[in-house]
Amino acid sequence: MADPKGFLTHDRELPQRRPVDVRIRDWKEVYEDFPAPKLTKQAARCMDCGIPFCHNGCPLGNLIPEWNDLVYRHDWQEAIERLHATNNFPEFTGRLCPAPCEAACVLGINADPVAIKRVEVEIIDRAFSEGWVTPVVPTKKTGKRVAVVGSGPAGLAAAQQLTRAGHDVVVFERADAIGGLLRYGIPEFKMEKRHIDRRLEQMRAEGTEFRTSVNVGVDITAEQLREQFDAVILSGGATQWRDLPVAGRSLRGVYQAMEYLPPANKDFENSPINARGKHVVVIGGGDTGADCIGTAIRQGAASVTQLEIMPQPPASRPGAQPWPTFPTLFKMESAHEELADGEGDRVYAVSTTEFVDDGTGQVRALRLVQVEGPQSGFKPIPGTEREIPADLVTLSMGFVGPEKGALLEGLGVEYDARGNVARDKTYMTNVDGVFVAGDMGRGQSLIVWAIAEGRAAASGVDRFLTGETALPYPILPTARPLV
Ligand SMILES: Cc1cc2nc3c(=O)[nH]c(=O)nc-3n(C[C@H](O)[C@H](O)[C@H](O)COP(=O)(O)OP(=O)(O)OC[C@H]3O[C@@H](n4cnc5c(N)ncnc54)[C@H](O)[C@@H]3O)c2cc1C
Ligand code: SF4
Repeated sequence: MADPKGFLTHDRELPQRRPVDVRIRDWKEVYEDFPAPKLTKQAARCMDCGIPFCHNGCPLGNLIPEWNDLVYRHDWQEAIERLHATNNFPEFTGRLCPAPCEAACVLGINADPVAIKRVEVEIIDRAFSEGWVTPVVPTKKTGKRVAVVGSGPAGLAAAQQLTRAGHDVVVFERADAIGGLLRYGIPEFKMEKRHIDRRLEQMRAEGTEFRTSVNVGVDITAEQLREQFDAVILSGGATQWRDLPVAGRSLRGVYQAMEYLPPANKDFENSPINARGKHVVVIGGGDTGADCIGTAIRQGAASVTQLEIMPQPPASRPGAQPWPTFPTLFKMESAHEELADGEGDRVYAVSTTEFVDDGTGQVRALRLVQVEGPQSGFKPIPGTEREIPADLVTLSMGFVGPEKGALLEGLGVEYDARGNVARDKTYMTNVDGVFVAGDMGRGQSLIVWAIAEGRAAASGVDRFLTGETALPYPILPTARPLV
């Protein structure tokens, strides 16, 4: 612990977001730079606790007090070594992770927690700019071939681990570019795509092969995949979305979030589904909904309203969700700040009853009703029905699991009680040599869990192929967040 009084002398500080009226005119990341002296003070707040609960909060088991200390001592090169020891892609988590580590930080019991995520991202950004992130090429090859199906964070983490262990790894992706939801789900203003491209450059130089626009199960059958590869990792995500089957659902202008966001991520200015001049309603109060808000605002929407069926969460940790659990709190994401009237445009405890036709098959309005809490089963409150204008609606109500199409059917994998692909503790499915990692096995989750699963599944594959492994195994498939 470099500074025994750091947590007493420095307050928590994060970089500023760029002014709203400036940032909504472009698609760049919203945060300003954070000068190194300020970051050093943030790292100095770490108390180097005897039992660092932040380790348990982070599914990757990131060695947080170690790199806080190294940053405080200006040993950035050693800091990135320690960070990469547990996390393949800190540039993704440092920008996108909701930071369950910070919810578990001991300082957070009675003060603001250490700004762990900010320290993480500054370490990796500096490492890239200093040229310290170089290919880690395997010293010997095993001659074993591994197929990774799906190029989100789980597939990429597994691929990097297995390539470095000496296997020949091919990553298949049905989209036209690598990255999974990092590429076509999460908007540029949260993480610029150049961060993915920079990491892929390293992975290609290490020997990982990428094949895009290949829908596995269709363009290459499950049988061919088994013949051509010694092991397979399924990391196709939980892409089956939850729908809202109310009257008017099939009207033009009503889209799933993952129909709306990918084209906007491909062509920022001229997406074919464009919110320019439209009244936009986003159904679903989570991160995906916030991504739709920020995108619609940048496209020039006339108004944006976000609807959520749950009541508004509390601003601070409620008694029922004590430290070190990860609480559900009222969040002010950058996209929420950008809403014209601030929080007024977020409407809680409402349920959509109908999409209203303008007479031509296009949605013109949305009918909603105020509801009681979840205990009552969201019972509608009589007399609260109303209509709001809606020319473009995005459904951001989550995902129910993996698509049970040609790939999974062709392989003959079994599912767990929630409809996700079932696996044993080595991440192997019921099919010998076929493994599963990330949202496809866990259900809709977070990037940090996907990376942790990809790393753990890689160790299962390595042992399956060679009889032993030195690869890390950060989490059991049954591990769950501290809630
Ligand atoms: C809009 C949105 C925003 C999000 N924001 C955040 C955030 O800010 N922070 C956070 O932690 N989490 C966020 N999440 C969740 C996070 O993105 C996911 O948990 C994570 O990406 C899951 O990783 P994965 O590798 O399992 O799958 P995915 O990232 O879903 O990748 C799966 C890939 O597999 C491909 N694929 C599927 N089937 C096939 C096939 N048969 N052949 C070839 N390819 C196939 C898909 O095209 C896809 O590219 C967000 C999710 C969404 C939808
Ligand atoms: S990956 Fe997420 S949980 Fe882990 S240290 Fe980084 S911000 Fe915290």
